[in-house]
Amino acid sequence: MKRLLFLIISAGICINLHAQIKKAVNPTDKKINDLLAKMTLEEKVGQMTQVTLGVVGTKVDGELDAVALKKAVTDYKVGSILNVTNHALTVVQWHKLLTEIADEASKTRLKIPVIYGLDGIHGQTYTLESTLFPQNIGMAASRNMELAKAITKVAAKELRASGVRWNFAPVLDIGRLPLWSRFPETYGEDVFIGKTMGAAVIKAYEEDGLKSATAVASCMKHYLGYSASRTGKDRTPVYMPEIEMREYYLPQFREAVKAGASTVMINSSEINGVPVHASKYLLTDILRKELGFEGLVVTDWEDIKRVHDRHNIAATPREAVALCVNAGIDMSMVPSDFSFYDLLIEAVKQKEVPMSRIDDAVKRILVLKYKLGLFDNPYPEKEAIANFGKPEYQQLALDAAHEAMTLLKNETNTLPLSKNAKVLVAGPAAQSISALNGCWSYTWQGKEEQWYPADSKTILQTITAKLGAANVVTTTGKGFDNPLNYDAAAFTTAAANVDAIILCLGENAYAESPGNIADLALDENQVALAKAAAATGKPVILVLTEGRPRFITAIEPQMKGILMAYWSGKKSGEAIADVLFGDYNPNGKLPFSYPRSMGEIVMYDRKPTEEIREVFNDDIHTGYNPLFEFGHGLSYTSFEYSDIKLSTAQLKGNANLAITVKVKNTGARDGKHTVELYSRDMYASITPNMKRLRAFQKIDLEAGETKTVSFSINKDDLAFVNEQLKTITEPGDFKVMIGNLSAGFHYN
Ligand code: BGC
Repeated sequence: MKRLLFLIISAGICINLHAQIKKAVNPTDKKINDLLAKMTLEEKVGQMTQVTLGVVGTKVDGELDAVALKKAVTDYKVGSILNVTNHALTVVQWHKLLTEIADEASKTRLKIPVIYGLDGIHGQTYTLESTLFPQNIGMAASRNMELAKAITKVAAKELRASGVRWNFAPVLDIGRLPLWSRFPETYGEDVFIGKTMGAAVIKAYEEDGLKSATAVASCMKHYLGYSASRTGKDRTPVYMPEIEMREYYLPQFREAVKAGASTVMINSSEINGVPVHASKYLLTDILRKELGFEGLVVTDWEDIKRVHDRHNIAATPREAVALCVNAGIDMSMVPSDFSFYDLLIEAVKQKEVPMSRIDDAVKRILVLKYKLGLFDNPYPEKEAIANFGKPEYQQLALDAAHEAMTLLKNETNTLPLSKNAKVLVAGPAAQSISALNGCWSYTWQGKEEQWYPADSKTILQTITAKLGAANVVTTTGKGFDNPLNYDAAAFTTAAANVDAIILCLGENAYAESPGNIADLALDENQVALAKAAAATGKPVILVLTEGRPRFITAIEPQMKGILMAYWSGKKSGEAIADVLFGDYNPNGKLPFSYPRSMGEIVMYDRKPTEEIREVFNDDIHTGYNPLFEFGHGLSYTSFEYSDIKLSTAQLKGNANLAITVKVKNTGARDGKHTVELYSRDMYASITPNMKRLRAFQKIDLEAGETKTVSFSINKDDLAFVNEQLKTITEPGDFKVMIGNLSAGFHYN
């Protein structure tokens, strides 16, 4: 017996020792530890410093100032540079610029490479001639995971081809507040779409391994709760109970960590009075310990400074630096000076930040640089250039724009219009490229059309290409604000001889704070135009190019057709024309509830008490009553569901529940269709949601064809956050719903 015990213990020790040796000889670990051991405090803090291109550039875009570059890289030893000065550069300019930066880094004592980061939000924003795809809101409408992954792969290739290996994407903030100016960058109001698409996209950015010439490090952002500000204004306070945070805002980040995200960017605002950058609870306790995130934590723009001068919770800039680094920040997007560097060195010397925290942060930065292969080759890779601008990306951009298109209304089957029709193309978006692409398009705001590829098409151009110039009239002019676009009199005269009016309204491009609005109302001059269009008596088709839902309640009844086009990138114009004239059968589904009015902003996953319609005298509480529901989207064919079946009516423990349903294309056209599976917990210790999306599948069905669609879920898919802040599934009765069908089961 003793012998046996001895053998077991020695075997245990051996395995443990073996594991330790294996760990110790991990070559990257050793290299990093050796390097770290050689680094001075200044070199370490330099690594934690990120500056913007403007700090090292001249006024001419793409050109570096050799003296400023030396100051940043050699004197301040900065670890990272980001951004553009004003607008996108060519691949050649990027290569030249990044080569000069790498050359400068190679002259430093330890030759640690600089990592460059950019915002490739819907394609590679900042390289001229890159391919831009739909914003996340449009990709969520497509409900097509494969497409989301494919466009991400192209973005990664075009970033990498430009020499950039770190992308500040994807945005994982949930879009539950349409006023928020970054709503278009979100996957909409639903947790499931956000977490599954977000995770798929992260895997696609990083899938070939970070060393491959087709991969980039992703950055999940903006952790946490950024989109929930009270007023919808960018970077303004959030008040959020933790139960809500855990139910709706955290799951996307949890999945993203599991998917292997290398980096995370922090929310610039504050939650319950605590700037997120200074929250040890959120950055260390939840992100590191609970979610197990091991990657790099970078601040957002100037945010450590703001902890002192805007949030006012640190009395001095140094206190802010110490607070944030101690909370868990690894790298500061300073980005316009070297104050962070000086202050952090002082703070360490004053023992306000322990060396262990600095070493921890620097190690994470070095690990990322190793993984990205920057130590082997810090230069832009010539072979990666071949991955830029491949012809097939254009088709992919068209596929993605097609699948984003969401047909909201089609009264008396007015659409598709005949290609023999004579049409009036009107509205401020008719001749706009920027209103088809939105934010982060060759410039931050996306408004400067001179930087877009010359073959970008407006809606007017794509419709003219389809119908011939003789059949298209317009009274519009270039420029979203051009007075010609709002000249109702000219437009009414021009409408006299046409069969239909295509009215292109919505929003021009905006990003972040410049996109702040006080009201979701559509601009008055656009509403007036819609009313003038309706007054002509001609059928009016409303095309909405917008990043967030603007109220159209007053004009909707007079529109025969409404197409939500979002900001769908390079091929938006083509996709819109294809849908309007029947060359493409639309299949997008709204990723948010299109609200009727300010007081009616209720999400689809509402609580039962939001649903109830109480009537007192004439005062009606309307419950969930959006203009168009979450998941709404019409097709030129029709689909019918039948035979919903569950594998069991008694789901036990961790077992799977299989759900099948038959879907038939009952119309005359082939079509794509997303089948969505919702569940409802009938009674729970926390008021349950009326429904939650748990799974979806996009299928192709030929006219007349029937397919059986199968889903599998288990108890984890039905879970919710309870009063003790634990994610659990309580025993009880549940319902699953697909279209108009539903079936019940019991879980225990
Ligand atoms: C935005 C981030 C972005 C950063 C760098 C900030 O203003 O909030 O999303 O990554 O700028 O461009």
